[in-house]
Amino acid sequence: MASKLDIHQIPAGPLETNAFLVVVADTKQALLIDAPPESHDAVMTIVRDHDVTVDTIILTHTHWDHIVDTNAFRVSLRAPVHAHSKADARLARPGSAVMDLPYTIEPITSDGHLDDGDEVAVGEQTFAVMHLPGHDPSHIVLYNVEAKVLLGGDVLFPGGHGRTDVPGADQDTMLQSLARLLELPDDVTVYPGHGQPTTIGAERGWMTEMTASVR
Ligand SMILES: [Zn+2]
Repeated sequence: MASKLDIHQIPAGPLETNAFLVVVADTKQALLIDAPPESHDAVMTIVRDHDVTVDTIILTHTHWDHIVDTNAFRVSLRAPVHAHSKADARLARPGSAVMDLPYTIEPITSDGHLDDGDEVAVGEQTFAVMHLPGHDPSHIVLYNVEAKVLLGGDVLFPGGHGRTDVPGADQDTMLQSLARLLELPDDVTVYPGHGQPTTIGAERGWMTEMTASVR
């Protein structure tokens, strides 16, 4: 019997980037997905109030608005940081290629790599890692088959996909990533890096149309 997941959504920073604290209710073990600017204190309040132990900090991709508080979390949570191997170079020299940031981001070194087909276990729950580039070459998402939950980062939003007009992005690659998401069931809930959750079913129409050329 699968234990229940409690998913706390914490939007923070100038782009209201979502951090997600994914808690296995039975054991209070958790994953922290992304580390937006100014998210640290709000997340830590939830961690303390719910007496949660964060096993791993996972970065979906390297864009500044998802990583600014990473090193602060590493210290507070004493948890390792995991990301795709293609994130290493950008994490070592974090920043924005397109705008001046109001933040100085210290270099981040990941403690481990996650790639397509890997599994992340937390308590009795297992998340499959999917490498879905297109918005960022390092982009990964986490999919829990039993709970039908997808932590999707900036790949899929309500009504559209992540930007492909930023450095490192590629539209054709994005379409291939969207085509893979179409293989998931309609009742999978998608928790995106910005805005409110949606489902694969709610987005299937436009995704199907847009990816016709690559399927
Ligand atoms: Zn992004």
